Amino acid sequence: MTARILLLGGTGDALAIARTLRPRHVYSLAGLGRVPADLACAVRVGGFGGAEGLARFLADENIALVVDATHPYAAQISANAARACAAAHVPYWALRRAPWQPQPGDDWRMVSGWAGLVEAIVPFARPLFTLGREPLAHLNEVPERQHWTIRCLEAHPGHARARIIDARGPFTVEGERALFTEARIDVVVSKNSGGAATEAKLAVARAMGLPVVMMQRPLLQDAQREFTSAQEAIDALANPI
Ligand code: NAP
Repeated sequence: MTARILLLGGTGDALAIARTLRPRHVYSLAGLGRVPADLACAVRVGGFGGAEGLARFLADENIALVVDATHPYAAQISANAARACAAAHVPYWALRRAPWQPQPGDDWRMVSGWAGLVEAIVPFARPLFTLGREPLAHLNEVPERQHWTIRCLEAHPGHARARIIDARGPFTVEGERALFTEARIDVVVSKNSGGAATEAKLAVARAMGLPVVMMQRPLLQDAQREFTSAQEAIDALANPI
């Protein structure tokens, strides 16, 4: 594609798309994780300053298409991007990975926020949190009768009732089973991220008869074109209609 693309990223799918972009295109990251240094396209890091800032960026940088490949739970940047594109008359495309679906034998307990999540894990002693950094802000709230295992992309010493595992997927069924057993996990807390890289925990929870407290997905704006995989987006960018 010859028009200048802004790709909003911060996910493995976005990185796969970014690897196919030529130098004139821009890959944008919030700045929380690793910044790849081996891409042909330009890489920028940090917020734009809300929808207005993003609309200004689109005009200043002569962007002709925005591709939103951010995480399905990164609702703020997606809302900003949809608004900025509408204001700047720039097409808005999005990669919307399909959510996981419960399968026979699954015991999913849907919650919509931190308070609901805390309530849902009351009956359990050893939850495994796999939904990012949020639990780190609540380390002083771990109840006496619980021990938390928190897997996220951040090194942290934890404390006597909270262990933090700094690990990046993909995760295997064997690895998840070993972790669940060793940490004596009795409930899994998850976002419904979709995709294969972090799905093994669900298979292991099912096999071990463990419930999954699942954080509901936020509602996102419709995009002009939507893709369910990185490859679909890559193909569309190579052959725009
Ligand atoms: P968010 O709440 O939707 O966004 C918060 C703010 O961060 C946005 O308003 C924007 O700042 C900035 N931002 C987010 N993504 C950006 C990007 N790609 N480029 C430039 N600025 C960006 O996002 P979040 O949930 O904190 O996630 C931050 C990043 O981590 C996202 O890029 C997302 O793809 C990635 N990520 C998130 C999750 C998750 O569970 N939320 C999981 C894996 C990866 P301004 O308003 O100043 O523009």
